[in-house]
Amino acid sequence: MRQLPQNINLDTKYQNFLTSWETEIRRITTHSEKVKVAQNKWKSRRTTKTLEHVCLKLEEMCSGNRRCCYCEDSVADEVEHIKPKSLYPELTFTWENYLYACGQCNGSKNNKYALFIGIVLTPVQPSNSPPSPGNDVFINPRQDAPMNFFDLDLGQEIDDGTFQYLPKYGLSQSSVDYQRSEYTIEILGLNRDFLAVGRKSAALDFRARLYEYQQKKQNLNAQQLQQFQRDFKSHSYPSVWEHIKAQYQSLPEINQFFQQFPEIQNW
Ligand SMILES: [Zn+2]
Repeated sequence: MRQLPQNINLDTKYQNFLTSWETEIRRITTHSEKVKVAQNKWKSRRTTKTLEHVCLKLEEMCSGNRRCCYCEDSVADEVEHIKPKSLYPELTFTWENYLYACGQCNGSKNNKYALFIGIVLTPVQPSNSPPSPGNDVFINPRQDAPMNFFDLDLGQEIDDGTFQYLPKYGLSQSSVDYQRSEYTIEILGLNRDFLAVGRKSAALDFRARLYEYQQKKQNLNAQQLQQFQRDFKSHSYPSVWEHIKAQYQSLPEINQFFQQFPEIQNW
């Protein structure tokens, strides 16, 4: 999971539709009625041109071949409400609350959400009243930089990494950031076995492409170099590359490429 681009917006026409639908829900007086109406309106509007446009714009945030913005592995085909609509019905039609996810991540997260009330991590339960004010526990990739919260275990030289996400090294277990990290990994199931296998395979691909770059670079013209870079950057699992860039100094085999080709820091 990586921070998503911040500069993708809806066309005005469709944003206006969403805003008017959001206002419609906000005008309802009771929370339980808001939840009910929001669920029904969501179902009936999912096939509208506005939601089609939302999907196209969300797709621009995805890596690789429309990969899920949480796990980066499976195809994204569900509009996920980062703050669940059953708890925050006013955000059912809010652009900033959307992300494109796969069914498995969306299903795993479902309507789970938690807040820090004071310093206590408190799961938000469906209720007849709106959730108490508090700070979000879940790491929201539309706002937050997951790299600040997670480390990825790449091992000593990639071949021996577990490719599990861990709370960032050095965070105290009682810290807010540690708890946010642990909670997010847990409710998204980010350490499912097949995801670790996929991340390892991506890391081995990145390494192989770096060897290829080392061999071919001097024979490539400017256009071919740009193409190589574009292909490299369009790989799924972009967060694996982010973590390699953050840890290359402790990975001797990878470090040589960064010493030889400093430009790859910007890939
Ligand atoms: Zn997913």
